[in-house]
Amino acid sequence: MKKLCILGSTGSIGENTLDIVRQHPDLYRIVSLSAHTQIDKLAKQAREFLPQVVVVANQALAQKISTMIDLNQTRVLWGEAGLLEAVLHPDVDTVMAAIVGAAGLLPTLESARSGKRVLLANKEALVMSGQLMMNAAKQHGAILLPIDSEHNAIFQCLSRSAGNNSDPGAGVEELILTASGGPFLNVSVAELAQVTPDQACAHPNWVMGRKISVDSATMMNKGLELIEAMWLFNMPPEKIQVLIHPQSVIHSMVRYIDGSVLAQLGQPDMRTPIAYGLAWPNRTSSGVAPLHLEELSQLTFLKPDINRFPALRLARDAAIARGTAPTILNAANEIAVASFLDNQIPFTWIDQVVEATLEALATVSADSIEIIMMADQEARDLAKKEIERILRK
Ligand code: NDP
Repeated sequence: MKKLCILGSTGSIGENTLDIVRQHPDLYRIVSLSAHTQIDKLAKQAREFLPQVVVVANQALAQKISTMIDLNQTRVLWGEAGLLEAVLHPDVDTVMAAIVGAAGLLPTLESARSGKRVLLANKEALVMSGQLMMNAAKQHGAILLPIDSEHNAIFQCLSRSAGNNSDPGAGVEELILTASGGPFLNVSVAELAQVTPDQACAHPNWVMGRKISVDSATMMNKGLELIEAMWLFNMPPEKIQVLIHPQSVIHSMVRYIDGSVLAQLGQPDMRTPIAYGLAWPNRTSSGVAPLHLEELSQLTFLKPDINRFPALRLARDAAIARGTAPTILNAANEIAVASFLDNQIPFTWIDQVVEATLEALATVSADSIEIIMMADQEARDLAKKEIERILRK
């Protein structure tokens, strides 16, 4: 029986995780759940899964949810301290890190530092902290299992080929991250300036939270994933290729030096990588519909157009620069995406804000959490100023 903390249980990944838990009550038990502001949803989850702890954003919301659940069963906590307590609960052995954005960094890092099994959906946490997160996992014996479908696919291709070999990366020539291309794959650059948040969030293949949906539309999501893959699989950025595959059937691939290319295929349904991460090294059913290859008319692939998707170039450059460059990239992107979702800036400004912030801030070595948090804050402040500056023009 695995005992779980789900950070971000009210989000898309959180709800998919609970769906797997619901299917396997003999395998998984919920110890702690966290939400930010959606307390109605969290209260409903608490009544169904009877966690020992729930966490919300602040004291006022904690008081509200306390009237909605059985306090003999569940303790209510709030804020960052609450998130850390939820992760460090002595009964928790597995943490699903599914908060969106930088807000997930500290609890995710703490999960790694406490040597728990970490199911990593919150890619921003790893992008921001890179080496620090990987070192923490190594030093404290935490297992980091990628939940992002691409990294989960690569993890499966590497593990399968490893056999008795102790180094799963042996013989790898390159990693191939597939990308759907998002909702604007065939939209002209001129039209991109007019697209609305709802259009950007209408992903053709995946149902996801709004922030990652916008990241998919700019392809910053793939850029963040490139950085994520660099850390998770200890691969230099030049050995990580991005390939557009609009059908989202192949979730990613590994090319080996002997000419073999291993791919993982499946329906675009996050319950597959979540079920794999939860059950690893075993497998369980996930409720995902089977993939019938004979029903697929075609699988197509094309190289991404860097001119249309500058986010990919920005992320690759940040990956090469290392240090605080990925932290700055991520922070500026979070600010720009939030502004776009608030209808303050056009879609095409997102990359401009990120690029201007990266140009304005020097990259330093990301040796400590304090340096990372400082770079994150500086980049947020600067990105906001950049948005104000362009809006004044
Ligand atoms: P959602 O927006 O659907 O959910 C985000 C979750 O985080 C919610 O539970 C939300 O609470 C909580 N949250 C938001 N802000 C804060 C905050 N400041 N402090 C604490 N908790 C907060 O996101 P997704 O589930 O789509 O994505 C989660 C992570 O997984 C992201 O990093 C994303 O990149 C990654 N991911 C997602 C995939 C997907 O298919 N959705 C695929 C691969 C990776 P509340 O509901 O109360 O606001």
